[in-house]
Amino acid sequence: MGATVSTLAYLAASVLFILALRGLSHPETSRQGNVFGMVGMAIAIVATLFRPGMSGGGVALVLLGLAAGGAGGYVIAQRIQMTALPQLVAAFHSLVGMAAVFVAAAALYAPESFGIGTRGHVKTASLVEMSLGLAIGAVTFSGSVIAFLKLDGRMSGAPILFRNQHLLNLGLGILLLLLVIGFVGSGSEALFWLIALLSFALGFLLIIPIGGADMPVVVSMLNSYSGWAAAGIGFTVGNLLLIITGALVGASGAILSYIMCKGMNRSIVNVLLGGFGTEGGAAAAARADRGPVKVGSPEDAAFIMKNASKVIIVPGYGMAVAQAQQVVREMADLLKKEGVEVKYAIHPVAGRMPGHMNVLLAEANVPYDEVFELEEINPEFAEADVAYVIGANDVTNPAAKTDPSSPIYGMPILDVEKAKTVFFVKRSMASGYAGVDNELFYRPNTMMLFGDAKKVTQEIVQALQR
Ligand code: NDP
Repeated sequence: MGATVSTLAYLAASVLFILALRGLSHPETSRQGNVFGMVGMAIAIVATLFRPGMSGGGVALVLLGLAAGGAGGYVIAQRIQMTALPQLVAAFHSLVGMAAVFVAAAALYAPESFGIGTRGHVKTASLVEMSLGLAIGAVTFSGSVIAFLKLDGRMSGAPILFRNQHLLNLGLGILLLLLVIGFVGSGSEALFWLIALLSFALGFLLIIPIGGADMPVVVSMLNSYSGWAAAGIGFTVGNLLLIITGALVGASGAILSYIMCKGMNRSIVNVLLGGFGTEGGAAAAARADRGPVKVGSPEDAAFIMKNASKVIIVPGYGMAVAQAQQVVREMADLLKKEGVEVKYAIHPVAGRMPGHMNVLLAEANVPYDEVFELEEINPEFAEADVAYVIGANDVTNPAAKTDPSSPIYGMPILDVEKAKTVFFVKRSMASGYAGVDNELFYRPNTMMLFGDAKKVTQEIVQALQR
């Protein structure tokens, strides 16, 4: 394949990646987006295999990498639980970071293969790209490992704070900059590894003070970093596709972080300086003296919903755990048959990853026109007879509006309490991800339906069929 054909193929792949991102931005077009991404990747791989200058050994290595990565990816995709996706994404980002470190090292030790000079005499511009790819890659690697450990519960999700932490990070950041300048000036191999070491340490130190509840934002930021690291490496190896793809990942990760921060009403600086996701402050302390709660049965819920004119279903993390989406749709279908208007309300950070609830509802074939975002649906709770909150907790907690000491203060929430009756389907009085008690459980218009989300909803379905 000639150089022009290979460049054109890369361009076609890049356009397909852009179309993939566009498709993925809406549930209705997301499948098509995925297909665009897969076709783009297939074109990119074939074009790489037939690139001018690619030796037989090179092709064999690429195929070997494909087989190993593809097999690993297949096994993981088969086994992974939907609820464990955030930590999987974090683990994958760590690999992107490490790959950037390896490519930078390869470029340093074998610059001839990259056409950027000879060992010890690498072009200055390439040294700049190499050091950026290395530093961002190493920060992404160790930061993602910590994010994985926290999200997977292998390490406490609580922020790890110590005195002068931010000052230390700032000092190390300045030192890193000086090392990069020294490396670009000298091309020293020792300085290269010092940059790697310092960046690994910095990635670790930057993520440990961030609390569990902020991890999704961090994972999306690390995603963005991994994109920039790939773009930096793309410049080093002179690969147009890597530059474009890296920039796409970098930019989309940054935009997603921004959207998530908006969903939690927090600034990115506030997230990065950490401390969120600790014990629930005053709200948790007040748990003991909140008084009794009303407990209902699935039959009560079925009776009330059957006689309602409008029911809004609010899914959360517990619905994902129980895999109750299918039976929730069955319940909605039965209610609709009774003439009840049914809508679904989705909070931007419900569940454990962006779009978590949309994916589950789509899986259960819930019509898209029944699914509404927070801003659209909030004014409708006041006219709803029932809010059926299934496995959601934090995203309904009014402490976000009323208690400045609460860790979720400022997060926009779904105004479920405005509905005439609120059902909370959950197994106990336990708090949600942010560890904060929810005063709605104690309100007179609330009825708790204790039990597994799927089981309780199944029982409601049975009662509705009777
Ligand atoms: P929460 O974590 O606030 O609450 C989920 C509730 O589900 C729990 O209180 C739990 O109560 C209940 N539950 C768990 N398993 C079951 C089950 N099998 N059956 C019935 N109920 C169950 O979830 P929300 O979706 O309301 O809020 C999401 C939270 O996660 C927010 O704090 C958000 O910031 C955070 N987060 C969001 C991410 C995202 O990108 N969407 C990623 C990571 C964190 P019980 O134990 O009593 O059953």
